[in-house]
Amino acid sequence: MNRVLVLGGGQLGLMMAEAAARLGLVVDRYDPERALLLPGTSDLAVPISWEECQERYPVITVEREAFPETGFSAELAQSDRCVARGALQVIPDRFTQKTMLDKLGIPTAPWVMLDQAEDLPRAVADFGGVVVKARSGGYDGRGTWIVGEGGDLSAVPAVELAGKAIVEQKIPFRRELSIVGARSITGETLFYPLTRNWHVDGILRLSLAPANACSDLQAPAEIMLKCIMEELDYAGVMAVEFFEVDGQLMVNEIAPRVHNSGHWTHEGADWSQFDLHVHALAGVPLHALNVHGSSAMVNLIGTPFENAWLQHPGVVHWYGKSVRPGRKVGHANLAASSLDDLRQGLDAWADVLPEGYQQVLDSERALG
Ligand code: ATP
Ligand code: MG
Ligand code: MG
Repeated sequence: MNRVLVLGGGQLGLMMAEAAARLGLVVDRYDPERALLLPGTSDLAVPISWEECQERYPVITVEREAFPETGFSAELAQSDRCVARGALQVIPDRFTQKTMLDKLGIPTAPWVMLDQAEDLPRAVADFGGVVVKARSGGYDGRGTWIVGEGGDLSAVPAVELAGKAIVEQKIPFRRELSIVGARSITGETLFYPLTRNWHVDGILRLSLAPANACSDLQAPAEIMLKCIMEELDYAGVMAVEFFEVDGQLMVNEIAPRVHNSGHWTHEGADWSQFDLHVHALAGVPLHALNVHGSSAMVNLIGTPFENAWLQHPGVVHWYGKSVRPGRKVGHANLAASSLDDLRQGLDAWADVLPEGYQQVLDSERALG
């Protein structure tokens, strides 16, 4: 492999390109919105033709699930060089994603299609609390309506969503966990330990890894992710989000790419998820993974850069994006030799973080 092309112009592709540069490999990025190539980690965008693409990139990967339906990026995503081609046919539509999980016998929240508005009250009668999810295009909780048992359904635009959404049972989970792992182009697999995640308003705020008390859950999580990657003939890093209910895992959703809940691996493991992704695509034998103590990843959301962050132990990764409410603009990684030390480090950070973090940190302590 000489060069890899990643479809998408965001921070995930940039972090892949950074990892590749350090490993002596080249990852260039193609920004579908601007229809321009971003060579390596440069932000100097240049036009590129289909022929040049064919010549230069034997392997194509993605950093997001959705692309314009037509045009260059669609053609690249569907080409047989794209290691996510199979995944892109199934994952972006929650209907086909859930259907695949059912077919594979992988536990997931009970669900039905919202074919017509009347399906919603029917699902409520069956499920109690429900979560309505747009079939495609949703992320960071957008396109998701959570209605608890006996809750008000009027906020859900059921008529508009008819045919375009699914209804899931609202799961009374104890914790949210995720697994990040990779399958190489030779079929080898490797996994990080389960990570515990906290979401506020549908957006990931905090991850802790390795999640504690998961000794019985790691193996089933790995088996499920491996089964999904094989089913989709996928290469690269993939993540699965889980709910933990009664000591068992239930899949929430699949992300066919490097994942926000794996960002702790930048400082928390010998090889980050970005290194692993590049290695999996290059087909080099997947190395043993050493994880260093306990790690926390705090998402920096809709906030300007604060110099005060640099006064605390931890590493800030800033994406250089314009700041908008609810937008992920960076993350900070903290590492410590024990969970207690990590909690002390997080306490120091809580003083310099925007509102909303304290409740997450408090719930981390409350739930243990
Ligand atoms: P992401 O940014 O991770 O892609 P998303 O917008 O695709 O998020 P989901 O991950 O499906 O949406 O849901 C967002 C959050 O909503 C979950 O992390 C979880 O906290 C809550 N949630 C989703 N589905 C359910 C469910 N069936 N029961 C209970 N809570 C749920
Ligand atoms: Mg999602
Ligand atoms: Mg999610």
